[in-house]
Amino acid sequence: MKQGIVYLVGAGPGDPGLITLRGRDCLRRADAVVYDYLANPCLLEEARADVEKIYVGKERGRHHLPQEQINELLAELAQAGKTVVRLKGGDPYLFGRGGEEALFLHRAGVEFEVVPGVTAAFAAAAYAGIPLTHRDYTTTLGLVTGHEKPEKKMSSLDWGKIATGMGTLVFYMGMVNLSLIVRELIRNGRSPQTPVAIVRWASTAQQHSLIATLEDVEEKARAASIGPPAVIIVGEVVDLHKRLAWFENRPLFGRRVLSTRAAAQASGLRDLLEERGAEVVSVPTIALAPPADWGPVDRELDRLAQTDLLILTSVNAVDFFFERLRSKGSDARALAGVTLVSVGPKTAEAFEPYGVKADLVAADYRAEGVVALLKEQGVQGRRVLYPHAELARTLIPDELRALGAEVAAPVLYRTVVPQEGGETLRELLVKGALDAVTFTASSTVDHFVAMVGEDAAQLLRGVVVVSIGPLTSRTARKHGIEVTVEPRDSTLDAMVEALAQHFKTHPTSPVRD
Ligand code: SAH
Repeated sequence: MKQGIVYLVGAGPGDPGLITLRGRDCLRRADAVVYDYLANPCLLEEARADVEKIYVGKERGRHHLPQEQINELLAELAQAGKTVVRLKGGDPYLFGRGGEEALFLHRAGVEFEVVPGVTAAFAAAAYAGIPLTHRDYTTTLGLVTGHEKPEKKMSSLDWGKIATGMGTLVFYMGMVNLSLIVRELIRNGRSPQTPVAIVRWASTAQQHSLIATLEDVEEKARAASIGPPAVIIVGEVVDLHKRLAWFENRPLFGRRVLSTRAAAQASGLRDLLEERGAEVVSVPTIALAPPADWGPVDRELDRLAQTDLLILTSVNAVDFFFERLRSKGSDARALAGVTLVSVGPKTAEAFEPYGVKADLVAADYRAEGVVALLKEQGVQGRRVLYPHAELARTLIPDELRALGAEVAAPVLYRTVVPQEGGETLRELLVKGALDAVTFTASSTVDHFVAMVGEDAAQLLRGVVVVSIGPLTSRTARKHGIEVTVEPRDSTLDAMVEALAQHFKTHPTSPVRD
């Protein structure tokens, strides 16, 4: 039997990008992942599809599995020969009982490794703009738990030393005992004017930082009803927040934005939104499917030697075309004499992985741009191949034929309504959990309505509706949906920028659960 092992892996504080490369490697290799509430569940996507996922809770006051049973579970899984990842929020050896788990494994003779992680204090410092040390302020730092073992009294901490022994103090699990912490620090010599920051859900879209002094922090925390999970940072360095906060100042910070793009295309939009601070919820309204009959495309693939121009107007079209070519045992060399035409830079880029470059790139992102470009070039007597999405407009073949070209326009792929996601969408809308909804093509609107139901337009009232361009907006209006934001250029970049501008000029408070 394979020798089992337990990796105690620090998941980082919330932003999934903050796990270490080593941690991610362990996740990819795992047979079982045992995780709790502070580890971002989207990290589980790194694991194999058939991985055993075991949630053991640990939300404050709601322990799903007692620690002793977690320890035993880890040992049992490893003893059954499994590669186990124990995924823990932040760093495994800071206030996370990782030490207890390691000791148990050591006693049980189970092999283990520990992968450190970005702890909450460090994430809060970075993402709230509070350097924990700074030569002009302090060079010492203390990490303290504000919540010891239940059977111990808080007062077992040596407050005399803690209060004045260190410049910066960061309290974990301190929200419940906030008043005790404040009282003891002041009583033991810390000035009531000492700056304090409470940073909740550091490094996530829900991050909230509250700046106060020891004197008024309790009152302010109560007024803002700020609860766990949060770290309390005490010390003069907190003043630097005013100048160094960057995360919460991003234009879409705290906004929850829906992406309706197909799963394969969602990441580009997601990146653009996340770079500006938005939390992205992705519910694809588009699934792609091959044509009902490959015959028309295949016949054209056999005639590429006689074809003058190939027009592909979307990333999907490029992918479907080259995949089909490959599945027929051919490759890019079959296109040697063919002029490749694309629309916009994204589609042009999509050619590159297949080892070819677009010869002509229409600047206008719509079919009109392709027609204008080819009109300039002249297509009289040319053989043009335009494989396209089912239900695409017929503008390109119509106009090119009028210009004297011979045009073959087979259906290359179909967009269909996905089987799943409708209920999730409805729930998000009914709960009012979205700040904005983005539509990047007419079909995303049609499918959205098909998935949500008749009352989609009504449910979208009060939500910022973003459309990539005039055609998509027209489709939205056809369904009675009011479009709030439409960029001048029909690109993802321009769309996201226009959304950011909208929230700048219409600063409503973000939705919160
Ligand atoms: N091992 C973890 C700490 C676990 S104890 C680490 O290294 O970060 C749980 C406490 O960590 C919470 O009560 C809170 O004080 C803190 N914490 C964890 N994640 C946090 C986050 N994203 N933002 C603020 N505090 C967090």
